Amino acid sequence: LVPMWQAEVRIDLDAIRDNVATLRALTPAEVMAVVKADGYGHGMLPAARAAVAGGATWLGVCTLDEALELRRGGIRVPVLAWLVAPGLPLERGVAADVDLNAAGTEQLAEVVAAARRAGRSARVHLKLDTGLSRGGAPLAEWPHLLEAAGKAQADGEVEVVGVWSHFACADVPGHESIDRQLASFAEGLALAERYAITPRYRHIANSAALLTRPDTHYDLVRAGITIYGLSPLATEHASRLRPAMSARARVSLTKRVPAGQGVGYGLTYMTPRESTLALVPLGYGDGVPRHASNVGPVRLGGRNRTVAGRVSMDQIVVDCGDDPVAPGDVATLFGPGDDGAPTADDWAAAVGTINYEIVTRFGSSRVPRVYD
Ligand code: PLP
Repeated sequence: LVPMWQAEVRIDLDAIRDNVATLRALTPAEVMAVVKADGYGHGMLPAARAAVAGGATWLGVCTLDEALELRRGGIRVPVLAWLVAPGLPLERGVAADVDLNAAGTEQLAEVVAAARRAGRSARVHLKLDTGLSRGGAPLAEWPHLLEAAGKAQADGEVEVVGVWSHFACADVPGHESIDRQLASFAEGLALAERYAITPRYRHIANSAALLTRPDTHYDLVRAGITIYGLSPLATEHASRLRPAMSARARVSLTKRVPAGQGVGYGLTYMTPRESTLALVPLGYGDGVPRHASNVGPVRLGGRNRTVAGRVSMDQIVVDCGDDPVAPGDVATLFGPGDDGAPTADDWAAAVGTINYEIVTRFGSSRVPRVYD
């Protein structure tokens, strides 16, 4: 039997749809599905369509290119693109009805200039830095941004659709910065009102805040990792959600080796006894972190095992002992976990990163993505 595939990343789109529906039931706010970075590796357009089918009324992306790709893909719901950088053809975003971020008066001026070039008013969200120290106007500059936005709005050049911010530590429930940021956001909103800026959408919550802090939801929550079925919280698995991505490969070769055989570059693994080694055709060129050398979990032959030796560019080796593993057998690196196989969380824990990075790496690699 010739295998149909060597390695694949499988995406369960129904899981994304159902996860969004689950999240919607947790809040009276609208849900913005965050589909940047190729939908965290799940494929931006398919993930966006599944999220909209599940009830997302907004989509969030980083770049203008991503927003325009959503529009080209026939997506009609509001889209917010938050990376505004000098020299971007923002008028294309304005013409395509993409909401743009303004994190200061200079960015607002870029959006206004783009509106003029496009010959129509731009939809803008004013971003306040409440403590993350990334995008966003600091509170000291906020009145200037509000004043400029008020003027541009009165002139018909922009419509202020949103006022927003982003948390630094929402994934650590109880972290003192959450209340501080929330208070700063409330202060920013009160100030906006004094400048007659009363946007329809106030938003600050990401997935972690959506799950743990209903008082942060305002009018819109921006959910990324949870729509893909993964938890942003180190301490808690998102039991109500279903992980959408699985990464699998078929064993390409097996071989019997004696005890004491070194395996892989650097010979960092030695077989403790005579063993069957299985070659699995996934490596760091496919999203397997090289830090998974000797620690990454793999389910093969009905058992969870560990990568033997270093991860190479195209393959890993798994020591199967005396188990009857053969070429063509399926090795699961991670999946939803319901069959006992490792999860993206297990991979993140093994290599010292977050589940976000695991799915984004695997999904955006050369491995074919297959949709259920
Ligand atoms: N909002 C912004 C501005 C983001 O950059 C992100 C993702 O990093 C999100 C929301 C979604 O975060 P999460 O995936 O934790 O829900």
